[in-house]
Amino acid sequence: MPRVPALHVASLVIALATPVASLSAQRPATRVDTIDVLITGGTVYDGSGGAGRVTDIGLRGDRIAFVGAMPARTVARRRVNARGLIVTPGFIDPHTHAYEGMPVLDPERRQNAGSLMQGITTVVIGADGRGPLNVGKTLDEAEKGGLGTNAYALAGFGTVRAAVMRASSAPATPAQIDSMRALITRAMREGAYGVGSGLFYAPQSYASTEEAIAVISAAKPFGGVYDTHQRDESSYSIGLLASVRESIRIGCESGLTANIGHIKALGVDVWGKADSVLAIMNEARGRGCTVVGDQYPWTASGTGLSAALVPRWVQAGGRDSMLARIADAPTRERVLTEMRDNLRRRGGDSTILLTAGGGAAGKPYVGKTLAQVAAEKGTPAVETALELVRIGADMSVASFNMTEADIETFMKDPYIMTSSDGSGGHPRLYGTYPRKIRNYVLDKPVITMGRMVRASSTQVAETYGLAARGALKAGFLADVIVFDPATIREQATYTEPTKLSTGMRWVFVNGKAAVADGEITGAMAGRALRKKPVVPTSPPNRR
Ligand SMILES: [Zn+2]
Repeated sequence: MPRVPALHVASLVIALATPVASLSAQRPATRVDTIDVLITGGTVYDGSGGAGRVTDIGLRGDRIAFVGAMPARTVARRRVNARGLIVTPGFIDPHTHAYEGMPVLDPERRQNAGSLMQGITTVVIGADGRGPLNVGKTLDEAEKGGLGTNAYALAGFGTVRAAVMRASSAPATPAQIDSMRALITRAMREGAYGVGSGLFYAPQSYASTEEAIAVISAAKPFGGVYDTHQRDESSYSIGLLASVRESIRIGCESGLTANIGHIKALGVDVWGKADSVLAIMNEARGRGCTVVGDQYPWTASGTGLSAALVPRWVQAGGRDSMLARIADAPTRERVLTEMRDNLRRRGGDSTILLTAGGGAAGKPYVGKTLAQVAAEKGTPAVETALELVRIGADMSVASFNMTEADIETFMKDPYIMTSSDGSGGHPRLYGTYPRKIRNYVLDKPVITMGRMVRASSTQVAETYGLAARGALKAGFLADVIVFDPATIREQATYTEPTKLSTGMRWVFVNGKAAVADGEITGAMAGRALRKKPVVPTSPPNRR
């Protein structure tokens, strides 16, 4: 039975093919397809990494209808002339702090204009282990309130550890590990795409490798990514290379892709080590681990004053415990000695720029280097920094601690994606992607445009398993951007970090124009993305 209708259909198609074609030439088409947007004549990079080609793209509803010449008998409601412009998938930013504390965000932050004007159409939330405790509820509320860009979430190792152990520096007990695992499992069921950690930061830093694996491996049945601000990007504690090995071990033993967030060689002690880091990652791939990284193209990192300079043991137990230690004269001497070494490692007091935060106490120091503030106060740099922390001016800092050579070595590696690590007080929140295009593709060809686009879209979607996003393909969600290679560049600087980038002409988020002809439209077309839950059918195997 099944073969007979199949044969009928086949012969019908052959029989009708010619008559239908000739009929359509003789009289008006009986059916006209309508698309919403036709982007014509741009140089299209589809995200596969190859060279661009001049062609058209059609969008219908929230999807890409076609890539290539517009099919016959199709009309477009809106035409975007992209001649001389570049058309790519919307960028997906795998390390941001854009929607931190999301449900109570103000309208401006919800819109995320700084990201949209870079061509970013999707951002992760929950980097550095700060993922929401209630992933499902957070995503629901975010979507209800409106989002300028799509958002996907990571479960947070730091969040669950704080929920169970507060700021404790003690090792977790078996019961605490069970509680943390239950929270990770719930987050994964609610749609998290993996687990983030920030083992550099107190109190996450108090967790041993084994504790991290015991907790994070709760995500194993679901799969996904272990994304980390690793324990040491420098020479603070275990050292950069041991830290890379630890990150890979935690990810691999937890059954997840290990992603080393904002990969870098921080500070004079580890300059030139990018090759060694990449070699360790490659070696791990040989053992069957999936290992990737993401990177922002700036020589300054951004962090907090205390995170940069104050030893972690001083912060154990939280702020009150820290203040008690600082108040004790012999302990204070020890703190200052270690802070001197931390400052040396980062490059000295003139490389620490106080950029934002610290409330009223911090206000007089915004835009000054630690060296300038120390000179004004007439106190040594580390004492000045400790005093700022003591009075509550624990400000955001831009810390100039990377070399261009290491940045370029990481950038050329095929496993390293683009990320902004966007946060207040650093121009990377507003300028990362245009800067990478301008400085490392157009002005100095460190990588090709095809590679830039792939590292910023398709590769991220594949790494995180973002379904039907991140590439220009028929049927995919219509996250599409159009930019002008002549004018694309970041405008944000370390002293004016919130200036919008230039050159982005059109940004479509789920088919809606969030940027039209270079202007923000106010469309809140972003969606909260939830990973399809994988219900484990058998107990997870341990490696
Ligand atoms: Zn980080």
